[in-house]
Amino acid sequence: MPAVSRERFLRWFAELAGIGRTDTGWNRLAWTPLEVEAQEWFRGAAESIGLEVRRDGAGSLWAVTPGAGDGPYVCAGSHVDTQPDGGAYDGALGVVCALEAVAAVLESGQPRSRPLAVISFVDEEGARFRTACFASRAIAGELDVDAVIGAMGEAPKIHGVTRESLLASREELRRVGAFLEVHVEQGKALVDRGQALGIADVLAPRSRYRAAFEGESNHAGTTPMAGRRDALVEAARFILAVDEAARARPGAVATVGRIEVSPGSTNSIPGRVECTLDARAPEVETVEDLVAGLRGRFPDARIEQESRNTGARFDSGLRAALYASAESAGVPVGDLPSFAGHDAGILAPHVPAAMIFVRNPTGASHTPAEFASDDDCVAAAQVMAGALAELAR
Ligand SMILES: [Zn+2]
Repeated sequence: MPAVSRERFLRWFAELAGIGRTDTGWNRLAWTPLEVEAQEWFRGAAESIGLEVRRDGAGSLWAVTPGAGDGPYVCAGSHVDTQPDGGAYDGALGVVCALEAVAAVLESGQPRSRPLAVISFVDEEGARFRTACFASRAIAGELDVDAVIGAMGEAPKIHGVTRESLLASREELRRVGAFLEVHVEQGKALVDRGQALGIADVLAPRSRYRAAFEGESNHAGTTPMAGRRDALVEAARFILAVDEAARARPGAVATVGRIEVSPGSTNSIPGRVECTLDARAPEVETVEDLVAGLRGRFPDARIEQESRNTGARFDSGLRAALYASAESAGVPVGDLPSFAGHDAGILAPHVPAAMIFVRNPTGASHTPAEFASDDDCVAAAQVMAGALAELAR
């Protein structure tokens, strides 16, 4: 059984957390010099434990055991970019856990028949160009390369990424024999259950829609209430119905996060409103049923699907390895669905993938308030080390 070093884990975590830290949070935005600095920190840490580091065509760094060749590797990793004013744990925790777990496996001297790799993905947050999970989608062949290259201007150059290198990065997927990712929990389920870690079972399906409401714009003073067709009033009813529909379905969540009002003037009746709808649930049928209900209640609204993610089931073999490792480490764990996108979730339909969530006492995410205790973080690294050792045996 490999044993992680608490001292090294904490030192590495503190070093990475020192990059892009500001008074208002962590600001290692993708495709900026601070993401480059974090990637260079990763390179140094990986090389210090004897790994060989190279960059792929999407800009991600791969640190592999010497002689690994083309794999396939037993992989672990996450990302080093953050949201604007993000937290210290999202992404960084997964990268440091992966490095520490691999270090522990190498130090254990246990014989291995499969090479190991730590991947530091670029631009997981998608905060600048709405390109969430950029690098994992690139290798999974799920990135619209021409569209993103068109939209991102000069930005990709900072990691040496071009249209051609992005297309070529699809070749990387066959090097991934398995992928494990540790992530801070983005909620408080583990706190409520008294468990340090959660083993992801599903990535919840998600659908995004645009809803449009047509009314009639007119003067706010001279138009009596009786004759009005106020599109915003109808949209307001819709928003309340969305909230109600999600609450009525166990495990479902639904959000109207953006709204555009036309003409958007103080003394005009809104004639047209468009809003977004994001709906997620552990089962895809629940999402579809929720939206069908809304269509039924608002027959005059135009509700169009913008994107659809059918979710993913995490690999049962990897989950079993994580459970076995947690048991031998004496760490309390349980199943936990993921309601947010992650690189592991992008890879899951293509290669065996699994995730470990770490208890987050504040339940906060994408803010500096997100948190996990040192004990829980080190436990996650230890559980990952045990699983990696088993998978590489
Ligand atoms: Zn993340």
